[in-house]
Amino acid sequence: MRKKKSLESALHEVEGVKSPSSVSDNSIKHIKLKRSEQPSETVFVEKILAGDISHLSRAITLIESTNPKHQAKANAIIEQCLPFANKSVRIGITGVPGVGKSTFIEAFGKYFTQKGNKVAVLAIDPSSSINKGSILGDKTRMEELVKDPNAYIRPSPSGESLGGVAQKTRETIILCEAAGFNTIFIETVGVGQSEIAVHSMVDFFLLLKLAGAGDELQGIKRGIIEMADAIVINKADQDNIKRANLAKAEFSRALHLYPLKESNWQPQVTTCSAFYNEGIDEVHKIIVDYFSLTKANGYFEKRRNEQNKYWLLETINQQLKNNFYNKPAVKEALKKYMDDIQKLKTTPFKAAEELLKLAQNK
Ligand code: GDP
Repeated sequence: MRKKKSLESALHEVEGVKSPSSVSDNSIKHIKLKRSEQPSETVFVEKILAGDISHLSRAITLIESTNPKHQAKANAIIEQCLPFANKSVRIGITGVPGVGKSTFIEAFGKYFTQKGNKVAVLAIDPSSSINKGSILGDKTRMEELVKDPNAYIRPSPSGESLGGVAQKTRETIILCEAAGFNTIFIETVGVGQSEIAVHSMVDFFLLLKLAGAGDELQGIKRGIIEMADAIVINKADQDNIKRANLAKAEFSRALHLYPLKESNWQPQVTTCSAFYNEGIDEVHKIIVDYFSLTKANGYFEKRRNEQNKYWLLETINQQLKNNFYNKPAVKEALKKYMDDIQKLKTTPFKAAEELLKLAQNK
């Protein structure tokens, strides 16, 4: 049994006394200038392909930027990295806040890196688009994984819409794969549509659950159970083991009621204790079985193709929307029509028609 680690993070941004500067102001200016200089696309691509994390991070920052110049550069980098991407397994991990996602990802990530894999952990946080806050929280709880040279953790991009955030994550996957990460975890929370977004970019979807008091099948969104390739009951430790096993039996029964998935995969249920690092090997085994089945029966490739088509259409939708809402004339008229609708001067449908017409002419 692993020793209970401190629940308080010992990482990042620890408040304390400011350390005295050991360099002159002039050299700070010089360093800042150097840092703000952007390497060329070719340098970015070369460095990313060589597994250079600092360039990978900077390229992801370009993806996340709203500056059109940065976006253009990011697109060029992504395009050149694309032939080197796609060689990974992409695993989505979801569950309500507090279920143990960070703890699980840390334990699971370590399990993969110890087997010689390179793990990238990305996140899609719907709250970053709703209230600019963060439900997923920071990654400071993945203390060990953060220090692991074979792991890379990147928090959720923020954005105006979930669609935008999801697209950025999808592009980030390509860069991480090109940088040699062969295992990609994408974390999200059971809120809104974010699970659907994650499901649309992963090969395997894992739902983390807690054992409840016999009401496991209530209060969970049916759609999410249907999406899950595995349900893992976490916190199966100490006096919770019995309840976790009961929950496991209940979920297994429930899952058998669903028709077999197109992948021909029967979703599995297992228990684990992420905190005490128990049962992690069983989760790994499930995933290995899933990939050997779906790679042999062609579903793996079929699904990735479908996802690519989906993302083509999704990107067009996103771009059309951005073009529309970013037009100054539309922005101005939208305000007026919002007001008109409130005063019942026009209908939403008529207003939409007028706005779309206006956008076409501008
Ligand atoms: P998240 O919000 O889903 O990322 O959940 P966290 O990973 O932050 O975990 C929430 C709390 O549950 C923390 O206090 C963890 O230490 C605790 N926790 C996580 N996994 C386990 C587990 O397997 N067993 C027990 N007993 N506690 C756990």
